[in-house]
Parts: sequence; C-alpha cells; structure tokens
Amino acid sequence: MAELRFYFGTMGSGKSTLALQIHHNLTSSGQNGLLLTLLDRSESAVSSRLGVAQPAIEVHRDLDLVGLAEEVLEEHGSLEYLVCDEAQFYQPRQVDQLAEIVDGLGADVYAFGLLTDFRGVLFAGTQRFLELADRRQELQVEARCWCTRPATHNARLVNGLQVYEGDVVVVGDTDHPGAAVSYELLCRRHWSEGRNR
Ligand SMILES: [Zn+2]
Repeated sequence: MAELRFYFGTMGSGKSTLALQIHHNLTSSGQNGLLLTLLDRSESAVSSRLGVAQPAIEVHRDLDLVGLAEEVLEEHGSLEYLVCDEAQFYQPRQVDQLAEIVDGLGADVYAFGLLTDFRGVLFAGTQRFLELADRRQELQVEARCWCTRPATHNARLVNGLQVYEGDVVVVGDTDHPGAAVSYELLCRRHWSEGRNR
C-alpha cells in the first residue's frame, strides 16, 4: 500500500542527503520515480551539503503535481514514487495533490522538510504534510545549540543580529539591501531570548 511519508528535521539534519539516498536506492532497484525540489541551493537539482547532486524538477507554486504524475505515468507506463525535497515550501494544495497521487495512482511519496521558520511558526506546506501524512518521522541527526541543548529552532540573523519579522522566503534581503542574512540553529530558549553566539 502506497504511503505519504513526511520526514522533518532542522537545517543540517541531512534531509537532502537522505532524499538523494532514497531516490538512488529506488532507481537502482528498477523503480521509476521523480525527484522534486524547490528553491534549492543549486538550480533545479537536489544537492546535499556533502556535495552530491542530482537533477530535479523545480516545484514552482503553480505546478499541478497530479498532472505531472499522470504525464509521467502515460509516458513511462509506471510511476512508483516521488521524492520531495524542501517540502516546507510547497503550497498546501500541492500537498493535497501528493496525497491524491498516493491514493489514486499508488505511488509512494517521501517528503523532506523543516518544521518551523525563523519566527517559530510552522511552514504552511509543513502544516499540511503533518495533517495529511500516513507517517511523520523526525530525522535522528540532531543539531546542537551553542549551549549544547538540542537545537530545535532556526534563527535568522541580519548582519549578525537575530530578527523575528520579515518574509518567510528571502531571496536577497530587500528590506536591508546589502545586508548579510544567515541562519543559526538554537535551542528554543536561546532562540526566544535572541542569544546567538
Ligand atoms: Zn541554547
């Protein structure tokens, strides 16, 4: 029975690495599937920080995933799985479409994403995955805050100072032209106190 699986973890918990590994293993075992991503570090590819990359389909906000799956099915005669990286950025309706692909077309979906954004709020895509998934699994590679507690929150730093407001997705910081935007993993206490290193 096909399943919608959602794996979540902080930045650096190996989501892209695991996505690539699953895609590789399934392809090697003769299954036909798709690798999907969104706003990845490199153009239309899933890359892991360990340096592996694979071509991937870019999930822009208007992409109809059911239509895409049906096209592949028609062209190749089979579609066994979809591996979805950066799943927190998917539109909620696209997550519904993934559930439809699982139930209607019998393909497995392996989705990987972050839980919360820098404000400490669930990403919209993530919320929908948590609502619909057959399985929800936290990745076990655990990051640590500088105080050595488990790091559960992503802080956004603008020129080294933590901010709690702004666009969820920053492609060049338009509020602070020329500012350096970076992220740091913190425990909840230090995220809410704004105490990065
Ligand atoms: Zn801490």
